Amino acid sequence: MKKFLPYGRQYIDEDDVQSVVDVLNSDYITQGPKVDEFEKKLADHFGSKYAVVFNSGTSALHGAYFAINLGHEEKLVTSPITFAATSNAALYLGAKPIFCDIESATGNINPSLIQVPKNVKAIVPVHYAGNPVDLKSVYDLAHENDLYVIEDAAHAVGANYNDHIIGSCKYSDMTVFSFHPVKHITTGEGGAVLTNNPDFYDKMLKFRSHGINKDKFQFQPHGDWYYEMQFLGHNYRMTDIQAALGLSQLNKLKEFVKRRRKIARIYEELFEGNHYFDTIDCINQESSYHLFPILLKDPYKCKKSNIFIKLREKGLGVQVHYIPVYLQPYYEDLGYKAGSCPVAEDFYHREISIPIYPAMSDDDVNYVVETIYEIFHKL
Ligand SMILES: *Cc1c(COP(=O)(O)O)cnc(C)c1O
Repeated sequence: MKKFLPYGRQYIDEDDVQSVVDVLNSDYITQGPKVDEFEKKLADHFGSKYAVVFNSGTSALHGAYFAINLGHEEKLVTSPITFAATSNAALYLGAKPIFCDIESATGNINPSLIQVPKNVKAIVPVHYAGNPVDLKSVYDLAHENDLYVIEDAAHAVGANYNDHIIGSCKYSDMTVFSFHPVKHITTGEGGAVLTNNPDFYDKMLKFRSHGINKDKFQFQPHGDWYYEMQFLGHNYRMTDIQAALGLSQLNKLKEFVKRRRKIARIYEELFEGNHYFDTIDCINQESSYHLFPILLKDPYKCKKSNIFIKLREKGLGVQVHYIPVYLQPYYEDLGYKAGSCPVAEDFYHREISIPIYPAMSDDDVNYVVETIYEIFHKL
């Protein structure tokens, strides 16, 4: 059978399966004790005070933006080299994303290009491919301008920035994770926000459940049935089935990231000095290697669309991350203009994500390298 290696995929073992089956045989299948346990374990693992889980990374972003009261006429600054969810969640609240150009060597937002016009409330750095943004610069800038920092760390579960684990919120107000199957650990669909701020925590707990407060209303002339809906929220709850899977997956995160780093080192070594493409620069950071992007040195000479087809024909499930968000028709209709982030557009033209995930064998990794060289040599 022909090999097919996707750019990323989940790793599920018998322990994961058993933990899900156990919940299915228990009294609670929707939000229950496993959700609490998963949140405590996330906070504990990443060194934040609180964690709130959601039914997707997208709803987690929505919750984080809601927690800072992001609203109409307000803005946030983020990177165009991201999944649309990062900026879509701002649109849900009637706010306006501003796209700031990136560094060509990393695909991350370029802190020296961040502008802070009136009504900007937050900066949302995206740790592209798992390689952390220069958070200290972003944090200092935010501090000077009285802005919040919310990390979109969907790619960076298990990454480190200097001595800090991403998720500890040392240089941010909140950190958002995704547990989609291509990410580092999965709950099927799911996400989380980590924070050290008790008010944000409290608001997000209610936000994911219709804005309802179920705390004991002591000394009130109501019965025990009483609850209050205090603002308009959503049903963004994670199930115990998913939380059980997340708990089991979290036990393996260190091993997963170790394997991803090992694969990345093999790639970096075998691709070093080649004439066709560059790889991403990781400097003070320890990437969690959600993606392994290669960046064509000359995308016009060696036509990317041809290379892409040839790689797919050879069984490499390559993908491109990302089309700059503001080039999407919906965003163009909102008035965003092509050409506004030239480095991001060039990055898009050069980028191809090649397979990287913990279940890849060394043979798979070597197959990827040989196939890529075979195709590029023949150009
Ligand atoms: C995956 C991802 C998200 C969230 O996606 P969900 O599929 O809703 O979990 C957000 N931002 C980035 C950069 C992502 O890659």
